[in-house]
Amino acid sequence: MRFFEIAERACAGEPVTAEEALAVLGSTDDELMELVAATSRVRRHFFGNKVKINYLVNIKSGLCPEDCGYCSQRLGSETDVLKYPWLPAEEAKRQAEFGLSGGASRVCLVASGRGPSHRDVNKVSDMVSSIKESNPEVEVCACLGFLKDGQAERLKEAGVDAYNHNLNTAASHYPSITSTHTFDDRVDTVARARNAGMSPCCGLIVGMGETDEQIVEVVQSLQAVDSDSIPVNFLIPFDDTPLAGTYELTPQKSMRILCAVRLMCPDRELRIAGGREMHLRSWQPVSLHIANSLFLGDYLTVEGQTAEADLDMIVEGGFEIVGAEETAAQLRDRVRAHRTAHQAAIDPSPTSAQDAPSGGTLPCGKPEPVGAGAPAGVTIPVIRRRGAGTTEAPNA
Ligand code: SF4
Repeated sequence: MRFFEIAERACAGEPVTAEEALAVLGSTDDELMELVAATSRVRRHFFGNKVKINYLVNIKSGLCPEDCGYCSQRLGSETDVLKYPWLPAEEAKRQAEFGLSGGASRVCLVASGRGPSHRDVNKVSDMVSSIKESNPEVEVCACLGFLKDGQAERLKEAGVDAYNHNLNTAASHYPSITSTHTFDDRVDTVARARNAGMSPCCGLIVGMGETDEQIVEVVQSLQAVDSDSIPVNFLIPFDDTPLAGTYELTPQKSMRILCAVRLMCPDRELRIAGGREMHLRSWQPVSLHIANSLFLGDYLTVEGQTAEADLDMIVEGGFEIVGAEETAAQLRDRVRAHRTAHQAAIDPSPTSAQDAPSGGTLPCGKPEPVGAGAPAGVTIPVIRRRGAGTTEAPNA
């Protein structure tokens, strides 16, 4: 396949066709470096050497009534994730500011559940006011589930800049993943967010048993809803969920998926999201030459690699950080010095996934989770025990 030709067309604003995207997904490992080189031109064309940093704050965790098959917070889940109700506004602000000091220009306030009540929207509005009062430049993205009449408008008025609601997988695959809502329900909420003036942040999860055709299908749906930012999540197959033990992705396949999404959505923010560490593995730093955005540090219910490791990837890839007043290297060194001092002063126990003791007990005293049938070389993420909802310092 002529990767450089299709990349040239993508740079000119012409997304690749479904047929071409399928050829990208079906290309061989031998062709991967050529595909990456060609696709990286598209990333450079639209985003130069900038990486956007986003920071997740889980403002309400666990106990969801929905049954999304990939989710550790789903109905009846026995996955031992943190469970807590809405954070107070001041605590949400405090957590958000950890991410801002780590270089984030967007804070993502995420709540489990089918959707917010009107009182919940008021709570989130208070959080947004609190965060923006002292950080007027920050972009706030809310992710609260399905929106009812008037809620998108109220969130917009409260200062919410973007609304995250992932389509997750193809319409044709959706019924095998979730039974408590439909694909069309999700499309409806994305449209409500867009119509209210919020920027749609809408992405997918791969590695859930979908075919290449279904990956192309969901990306076509992302084109149709006009998603501005596209998080690509790689399935973390939590124990005690229907997808436990599902390890379908290789690092090379994960890279081909990122390339296909970039080539189909050339000028959209493409974010490496949950599961990137365990699936992209040693390709992770290279993936930033395709994606232009990441979540710093931890995810909603599992820990990510350290924030310093994220910043190392950015610095060592020759990138700079969107919105930062200092160089990526200066920011990275400042974060590292702060974390080292903090660790030495108040938290001498190891807290990162990499530092956690193996095969035994986590620093919090809980047993270390064991992945069902993980292939050799896959590091199982550690359930999050720090940051929002805890008294421990976050990974930011
Ligand atoms: S993905 Fe969201 S809606 Fe689905 S089970 Fe998890 S928290 Fe609930």
